[in-house]
Amino acid sequence: MKVDIKSLSFEEIRSFITGLGEPEFRAQQVFNWLFAKGVVNFESMSNLPARLRERLSEAAFISEPVLVSRRVNGDGLAVKFLYRLSDGETIETVFIRRLWGRTVCISTQVGCRMGCRFCASGVGGLVRNLTAGEMYDQVLFTQKETGERISHVVLMGMGEPFDNLENTFRFLRNITHPAGLKIGARRITVSTCGVVPGIYALARLRLQVGLAVSLHAPNDDLRNKLMPVNRRYPLSELIQACREYVRCTGRRVTFEYTLLSGINDQPQKAEQLANLLNGLLCHVNLIPLNRVAEREFLPVPPERVVAFKNALRDRGVAVTVRRSVGGQIAAACGQLRHYHERSGR
Ligand code: SAH
Repeated sequence: MKVDIKSLSFEEIRSFITGLGEPEFRAQQVFNWLFAKGVVNFESMSNLPARLRERLSEAAFISEPVLVSRRVNGDGLAVKFLYRLSDGETIETVFIRRLWGRTVCISTQVGCRMGCRFCASGVGGLVRNLTAGEMYDQVLFTQKETGERISHVVLMGMGEPFDNLENTFRFLRNITHPAGLKIGARRITVSTCGVVPGIYALARLRLQVGLAVSLHAPNDDLRNKLMPVNRRYPLSELIQACREYVRCTGRRVTFEYTLLSGINDQPQKAEQLANLLNGLLCHVNLIPLNRVAEREFLPVPPERVVAFKNALRDRGVAVTVRRSVGGQIAAACGQLRHYHERSGR
């Protein structure tokens, strides 16, 4: 079977090339064609000898997602792309225009098995992990499609990055690699629902990649109900892992907290949250709830969002409210999902 070359890390591509009896410097060239120029066949790699191009096409193939649809939010600030992968599965990717740059929000799995009660991504369970190449292609092809240079990447689409750790780390190394798109680690954020071993692994990677943790509750009782992952990794362990991330990277952690009316938005919850985060280098990002058809939760009115924010601020917590992007095209936080093409979406 042919090797899916874009699913490999730089080091793995190097061994592959030297394994074909070629000198090491060819790896740099091939990597650059694949990950910076985004070519889709070996024939186009014009600085390689014809013999090597032929051997590569015999031994490997280059993945290429097919764009199925492209929907633009009314304000032009967000575009949602639906890509079809080589096995027919589909994934969603969101392109976000901001004052300071262009962000791509990528998916890391088809579906998700974490089962957070308020999120659309877990509705049909996990279908499969994405390869590192399928993650990379979302950035590469979204840049090609929009013609705009991507400056920031967030792993906040469908799926749990730390439930697909090896491929996520391969992706992170490739996307920051000098011969690829070379996106600065500080411009990349990985968001996790709280898979503790993944947080330690990211800390040890020493890449300066930003960490966001979906918290959504300040105590175990409530978090157990909203997020099944908490039964495996309770808050005490989660917070300890975050301390380790801060110690290793010197970077602050972002805690995402989606406000659910009557569930986690009471003043007492703000107090508990401030106590939980006391002494940790962090920042809370409050997310207004986005609508998900299968879920019954209600959003919190804007004045109560402000009240919750002020309650945290008054207790010394750094806090902001996330501006929702892409709500009209179901591209906002928690709205990405797995579509079955045959059932007509
Ligand atoms: N699995 C990772 C990456 C997803 S990021 C994680 O859980 O962090 C998507 C973010 O949107 C997460 O913080 C998630 O908890 C949040 N979210 C999920 N459903 C939402 C909804 N209906 N409204 C607003 N935010 C939601």
